[in-house]
Amino acid sequence: MGIKVAKFGGTSLANAEQIKKVQNIIENDSNIKYVVPSAPGKRNKDDNKITDLLYLCHAHVKNEIPFDDVFKIIHDRYISIVRELGLNINIEKYLDEVKKNIENGASKDYTASRGEYLNGLIIAELLGFDFVDPADIIFFDKNGRVDMNKTISAVRSVMKKHEKAVIPGFYGTSNEDGSGEGKVKTFPRGGSDITGAIIARGVNAEIYENWTDVSGLLMADPKIVKDPKPIDTITYRELRELAYMGANVLHDEAIFPVREVGIPIKIKNTNKPEDPGTLIVQDAAPITHSGTITGVAGKKDFTVIMVEKALMNKELGYGRRLLSILEANGISFEHMPSGIDTISLVIADSELEGKLDKVIMEIKSECNPDTVEVYPNMALIATVGRGMAYTPGIAGRLFSALGNEGINVRMIDQGSSEINIIIGVEIEDFERAIRAIYKAFVK
Ligand code: ADP
Ligand code: ASP
Ligand code: MG
Repeated sequence: MGIKVAKFGGTSLANAEQIKKVQNIIENDSNIKYVVPSAPGKRNKDDNKITDLLYLCHAHVKNEIPFDDVFKIIHDRYISIVRELGLNINIEKYLDEVKKNIENGASKDYTASRGEYLNGLIIAELLGFDFVDPADIIFFDKNGRVDMNKTISAVRSVMKKHEKAVIPGFYGTSNEDGSGEGKVKTFPRGGSDITGAIIARGVNAEIYENWTDVSGLLMADPKIVKDPKPIDTITYRELRELAYMGANVLHDEAIFPVREVGIPIKIKNTNKPEDPGTLIVQDAAPITHSGTITGVAGKKDFTVIMVEKALMNKELGYGRRLLSILEANGISFEHMPSGIDTISLVIADSELEGKLDKVIMEIKSECNPDTVEVYPNMALIATVGRGMAYTPGIAGRLFSALGNEGINVRMIDQGSSEINIIIGVEIEDFERAIRAIYKAFVK
């Protein structure tokens, strides 16, 4: 067996008890050479993630409000972890340094990244592994994207010197101003998954294990559907669709580094290591038996702008004019289902913030439509499955299930890849719609 890279999420490292489970997993598998920890997450539903508390510290400093009370919560959590694990590391010294830097106006990204940094120091000490700071091996380019060539070659050459190492997740070094002078930059939230994938790629791992608090990717969000079935094998493409659409057990961007070289990902449960988990691979046999889907996921808070104009299909450049309005306003869109005389623009509310009225005015003046209608409070739901293209009647079954529940479908978009059907429903119907779809396909 080759090298394994194992990433552990926030709940897997939320306190000493959880960290001991992680230690046990690693010590029972000598192939795990590189470990990527997140910051301590929630110990229970009402708890705080360390990362959120760090963001809060930064906001306090920015608004010139004392942050000692918030920092004390962070401080005490790390201290009790170290004490309960019986470690010798002088974490107090590192905490003091972090606090001082935050006080002196450290950046938001630097501040947030310290959750992983401190946890990485502790885990490395516990396991007796080397500590490698990702700021020295993960580089972002001036567009804020990972400079993959530079990063992979740095990971490769640095890791050669470490037989076993802990590399904190979630951050690297940016070169955004082009000066070459590095500043800490974080990935998007949940981004330790991406770090793990990059390390796996750099060391040419045989497998990238992603340890979390569920026994793999489930066919639906367990917060919405009771006891959803686990998925044993899924393709990178299906996973990307589901993860992007809300099945955020794995960050949707985490597949890119490993997919290119075909390193499989395995999602496993830290609390139930004996469960088989989910394997993510390039190809899997299509599920052809009638009616089977791979999973369903969804996201809330979208607005649909429906533009209608008779003979739009004959008007050259209509779509381009419409989209250039979004571009000029710095808005990216999610989907654009179209008919002969209509185009719908599906846009995340966060993109539209404060811009909707202006966009509508510009559409009216520059595209001269017959009507423009705005549907706020929308949710999108993706039903995904590599077997869908081969199975007739999937769409029929989906829509009759929704119809029977009295759920109005406001938008339909079947991806050209034919591995997903995306629908738009009103937010208040979101959970009910997911349950109805799940029930229609899973017996
Ligand atoms: P970690 O802290 O380990 O990175 P996350 O909270 O990011 O864990 O992801 C795991 C969570 O993802 C689960 O606890 C579950 O609530 C949620 N989740 C949403 N959709 C799904 C799904 N389809 N399958 C599994 N988990 C899901
Ligand atoms: N700690 C970071 C977050 O809360 C990154 C991660 O957990 O993956 O978003
Ligand atoms: Mg996560």
